[in-house]
Amino acid sequence: MTEVSVAKDAVAATEDLVVLKSVNKHFGALHVLQDIDLTIARGEVVVVIGPSGSGKSTLCRTINRLETIDSGDITIDGEPLPEEGKALARLRADVGMVFQSFNLFAHKTVLENVMLGQIKVRKADKKQAEEKARTLLDRVGVGTQADKYPAQLSGGQQQRVAIARALAMDPKVMLFDEPTSALDPEMINEVLEVMQQLARDGMTMIVVTHEMGFARSAANRVVFMADGRIVEQAAPDPFFSSPRSERAKDFLSKIL
Ligand code: ADP
Ligand code: MG
Repeated sequence: MTEVSVAKDAVAATEDLVVLKSVNKHFGALHVLQDIDLTIARGEVVVVIGPSGSGKSTLCRTINRLETIDSGDITIDGEPLPEEGKALARLRADVGMVFQSFNLFAHKTVLENVMLGQIKVRKADKKQAEEKARTLLDRVGVGTQADKYPAQLSGGQQQRVAIARALAMDPKVMLFDEPTSALDPEMINEVLEVMQQLARDGMTMIVVTHEMGFARSAANRVVFMADGRIVEQAAPDPFFSSPRSERAKDFLSKIL
């Protein structure tokens, strides 16, 4: 009996990377996350969609503790989110986040942006950090921009640097909150292609996006949110071809 349950726990610990249980969050009177249950397996790519104001960004921000929650549990790789200090800094490194606004350090070069966290949080030495930064910048296609400052790059290039910077921390999971929403249309694909490649390489990813082509081709699962709740979730094909809820049908009719 005991042995069986131990074995099951061991499997669960390796398979489930991000687990949210009955998570609730209010902003004053607004119940922005309502009983959220969400489990993301290692290597899974989950796309979160839903109307503006439904709580998608707040959901992302709770997972790396940029927002605290009122009740419920969140674990990453079996560990509850740390409250503060070095453990919190490590959590933020383990959970890479890429925002709509690129959030690079304006007064650091591209190379320095990708080196900094490695040295400060991961305690890498300078040479290792530089080598890794250059490799990652090459991988996202901006290797030749290493010595420039963020403002000298296009939006698409800056966002790819932001992805490289998060990857430099060897994150367990990557969160993307509308990473292409602030980009000119011709730059959207170059960022989505980097994300596609990451997904193919097996990165665990949570992606808030309105890019339904990306959702169809890269996601293992689509999570549809409305009014702070997960209303429906399914693999992309069944979700897009036959959504079950009226809310999802209505939403899809407006964006597709
Ligand atoms: P989404 O990303 O789906 O558009 P958000 O998570 O950004 O939704 O926001 C959900 C709701 O919470 C919105 O009504 C928004 O105005 C509100 N909200 C978000 N952040 C805050 C905050 N810091 N203080 C108060 N209300 C907030
Ligand atoms: Mg948002």
